[in-house]
Amino acid sequence: MEAIRVEKVSKVFDGAVVALNGLNLEIKAGELFFLLGASGCGKTTLLRCIAGLETPSDGRIFFGELDVTKLAPHKREAAMVFQSYALWPHLSVSRNISFGLEERKIPKAEIKERVAEALKMVRLEGYGERSIDQLSGGQQQRVSLARALVVKPRCLLLDEPLSNLDAQLRIEMRREIRSIVKDNGLTAIYVTHDQEEALAMADRMAVLAKGRIAQIGTPEEIYRQPAYSHVASFIGETNLADGDVMEMHEDFCFVKINGTALVGRVTDKNWRGQPGEKATVSIRPEVWRLHKESGENEIAGKVVERSYLGQRIEYFVDTVIGRQQVVEMNPYVLHSVGDHVTLHARHGDIVIFPKS
Ligand code: ADP
Ligand code: MG
Repeated sequence: MEAIRVEKVSKVFDGAVVALNGLNLEIKAGELFFLLGASGCGKTTLLRCIAGLETPSDGRIFFGELDVTKLAPHKREAAMVFQSYALWPHLSVSRNISFGLEERKIPKAEIKERVAEALKMVRLEGYGERSIDQLSGGQQQRVSLARALVVKPRCLLLDEPLSNLDAQLRIEMRREIRSIVKDNGLTAIYVTHDQEEALAMADRMAVLAKGRIAQIGTPEEIYRQPAYSHVASFIGETNLADGDVMEMHEDFCFVKINGTALVGRVTDKNWRGQPGEKATVSIRPEVWRLHKESGENEIAGKVVERSYLGQRIEYFVDTVIGRQQVVEMNPYVLHSVGDHVTLHARHGDIVIFPKS
């Protein structure tokens, strides 16, 4: 398996629609990499450019040291798996998988061996003679994975592969696909709009916006250190509030919002906010505590809504910095609507970036 490098790739459709805008990206060999972003931000276009199904208007794409920008799709050996499995329902599992090899005029004995190997990779040994319509949705998705893997691709490209499955199966398949990719040392790029799927499965992920990469990092980095408000609100839930910079330090800063000072971490290393400059504060619902902790970031509020969800309790609390969503696990005290409470948060848990 090989690394994939995307260098300044742009794609303009019909001379007007800029789907990709000078995008740079490096994916390591053996990495399970996720592309995330709102509908229309260019995820599928990027995947199609990497597969060779689309030609970039500008820029270059490398598999390892090989420049594949002008290479035909079948010569790139990048296998793509789609949301619709595109299997032939009247053919057996084996025939569905072997079809691509038969087209390449590979000897029968080798085809048989490789199909068996691919079935083993997706844990469907012994299913070769079944017909497709005898399989569950999850098994069908595994057949389409096997069909992709049987050609021994240099990389695996998955475009929303689980979107057609029901919620429960989708969650089970996360672990399944991840271990197929990892056990076989594949380099894989996985497109989804489901942020939880990305957080659960990715080695690293990139959030795309308007044909560019907004931020790239491990799931934990993206969730805990978002550098832009749209990344913070796209991945997980968050409370956002705008204010003015009071004091800027090396990696934290003080911001005043409606007369209340908050202190938090600065995630954009290049930002040197000046006093009075507009800034946005992002506070995850689970970061707020309803009991005294460090004395940092104390805000008085009134509970206006409560949802008891067993495992957790969700509140909405009105404060001087706006209505705050608060999530508590295993609380000391169960508060009621109308209660006056004080919210607390450690400065290391609050994130501050320039207002965009
Ligand atoms: P995503 O997969 O993130 O939802 P796409 O890559 O499909 O986004 O699309 C990115 C942008 O490019 C959108 O504005 C879309 O309408 C446009 N686009 C995609 N494919 C084509 C095409 N074949 N012709 C014209 N415009 C296209
Ligand atoms: Mg798409």
